[in-house]
Amino acid sequence: MIRPPSDAVLARPVTILGATGSVGLATLDLIAEARARWGEDAIPIEALTARTSVDELAALAKKFRPKLAVVSDPSYRRALESALAGTGVEVAAGDPAVIEAAQRPAPWVMSAIVGAAGLEPTLAAARRGAAIAIANKEALVCAGDLVTAEVARGGGALLPVDSEHNAIFQALRDEDLDRVEKITLTASGGPFRTWTLAEMARATPEQAVAHPNWSMGAKISVDSATLMNKGLELIEARCLFGVETARLDAVVHPQSVVHGLVAFCDGSVLAQLGAADMRIPIASALAWPERTPTDAPRLDLAALRELTFEPPDPVRFPCLELARHAMESGHQATAVLNAANEEAVAAFLDRKIAFLDIPRIVEEALTAHAGVSTSDDIGGLAERLDLDRAARKIARDAVGLAAV
Ligand code: NDP
Ligand code: MG
Repeated sequence: MIRPPSDAVLARPVTILGATGSVGLATLDLIAEARARWGEDAIPIEALTARTSVDELAALAKKFRPKLAVVSDPSYRRALESALAGTGVEVAAGDPAVIEAAQRPAPWVMSAIVGAAGLEPTLAAARRGAAIAIANKEALVCAGDLVTAEVARGGGALLPVDSEHNAIFQALRDEDLDRVEKITLTASGGPFRTWTLAEMARATPEQAVAHPNWSMGAKISVDSATLMNKGLELIEARCLFGVETARLDAVVHPQSVVHGLVAFCDGSVLAQLGAADMRIPIASALAWPERTPTDAPRLDLAALRELTFEPPDPVRFPCLELARHAMESGHQATAVLNAANEEAVAAFLDRKIAFLDIPRIVEEALTAHAGVSTSDDIGGLAERLDLDRAARKIARDAVGLAAV
């Protein structure tokens, strides 16, 4: 008999930042499943947020009955108000309203906004001591030190949702970090794993977002195709687990069955395996420190027959090394890397630049920045946001010059 989660999980109110995205919807799927199993009152929702997807947000609000629904783009306020008129769901709009949503007293918050835009709401939830299920890796790449400091001050917790980090979080449970030899993240290799450089030079946005194993938002799908995703994840791992870069590694594993591995000083290796379905790591964070059943697919190892591993190719996928280098240079460099990458990926999705321009533009921003400052002391949030803006400007100028 599988034991159901306790009331500490089922009655714990949650807020979902980025509810209309891939991770937000997977979280809501799990909540729908919990309500079908344990009653309509299970996992009450304080707030749901989106940027512009008003129709989707209104439909989710009608189905899941949060107290508050927020669109960050204020020009959609009227549309959301009229879609939710008479439902009793409170409506708000604008970036400050997303931060206020994160401040409302839900003890568990899913941070699933894409990009550095998720940083301030995540900090707001951390400040009041919430348990934060963190999918928004860019917040950790551009200001992980601020996020972890705020979580420590607030007395809450960071629960990794990124599948690799969730795997490592599970494998590290009750283990001493000073007995860990190496932490390894797996990478699927993305849709271009076997492509030549000449083929990659002509890659279209449609090809780049067609991930072989995972169904995800457009930005992270492009990051998976360049392998920048794995670079961002190494930085994310350093921030979440507090280990130095020499103990962090990445290996390509095209089947996406083993998500992360921890090697200990006695030669033991603990790994977490599971289907490539985000509901599995999200469920582990949602029920933390307990577990909850899911309908996610189960592994059939005999049907899979083989699991393979190979080193990443630094020539075709330079983003991984750029990220590693930035990680070794410090917080300023990782903030610049993240901002330049966000701009370059957006320009590629807009068909303004070619696929291979992405690493070139990120490298240009890092080089320009290295010429200006080498200090790792970059102060607080205001300084970080200034740096983010400056790096975006360098990247946008480079996009202009590279325009196809
Ligand atoms: P999506 O693009 O699918 O969704 C992003 C969500 O954030 C949407 O709700 C979107 O609203 C909202 N949003 C976008 N921009 C802003 C903004 N400027 N201000 C406020 N809200 C905004 O992304 P994913 O769900 O794929 O990814 C979310 C995060 O999780 C990313 O950091 C990603 O790297 C990480 N992640 C994702 C995984 C996945 O499987 N998808 C796996 C591991 C990590 P709207 O719909 O209105 O645009
Ligand atoms: Mg991942």
